[in-house]
Amino acid sequence: MIGWEDSANDSKGDLFRWTEDYLERTTYEISCPVIRDQALAPEGKTGIIISTLLDYSLVKRISEAGDYEHYKEFCTQKIINVLEQSLFPGIQELVLFSICATPLTIEKETFNSEGAITGWSFTNKIMPSENRFKKITNAVQTPIPDVYQCGQWTFSPSGLPVSIVTGKLAADQVKKNLK
Ligand SMILES: Cc1cc2nc3c(=O)[nH]c(=O)nc-3n(C[C@H](O)[C@H](O)[C@H](O)COP(=O)(O)OP(=O)(O)OC[C@H]3O[C@@H](n4cnc5c(N)ncnc54)[C@H](O)[C@@H]3O)c2cc1C
Repeated sequence: MIGWEDSANDSKGDLFRWTEDYLERTTYEISCPVIRDQALAPEGKTGIIISTLLDYSLVKRISEAGDYEHYKEFCTQKIINVLEQSLFPGIQELVLFSICATPLTIEKETFNSEGAITGWSFTNKIMPSENRFKKITNAVQTPIPDVYQCGQWTFSPSGLPVSIVTGKLAADQVKKNLK
């Protein structure tokens, strides 16, 4: 499948058509938190989170054209439709409500540039953080005495495991220095 920049002639219809095609072919991560914690939904109900990757610039362009709300509704309906046709026949009728978050939402909520879902981009020529696994203990150090850091910006490649590991390493450092 060609990228949206190559297939779209800047028209709204093209971008929506490309998105529709993409949502039919992409892979989805589906999670159901109520399986772990029943208190998250009323009895007999559940919630599912369906995620896929989408280019920030595409959503930004659509937003700048004033079509953001329409686009989110379009994507939501398309994704439900894909699930209806594949994994979950009948789901369409069961949906009570849905919420759609895009890379613009993540940017607004987290200030991560371009709505990135995790730390430093692999395309950085020089990584602004420690990136050697054998030296991961360096990741928690800062130039300020007695101040340690942890989380997705402190080591690359990042993600949940690195955030947890650096949190533990930083806590260990603090404990060690308190003795
Ligand atoms: C949709 C999505 C899917 C993902 N999938 C995966 C995956 O499959 N595997 C994986 O490894 N990683 C995944 N990640 C990335 C992973 O979730 C993050 O890298 C990780 O959660 C970052 O942890 P963190 O502790 O550094 O930051 P965060 O989890 O962002 O925690 C920062 C905390 O600081 C709080 N905060 C912010 N500002 C302030 C302030 N001024 N004062 C006080 N508190 C503040 C925030 O509210 C937040 O609770 C995914 C991320 C997203 C968005």
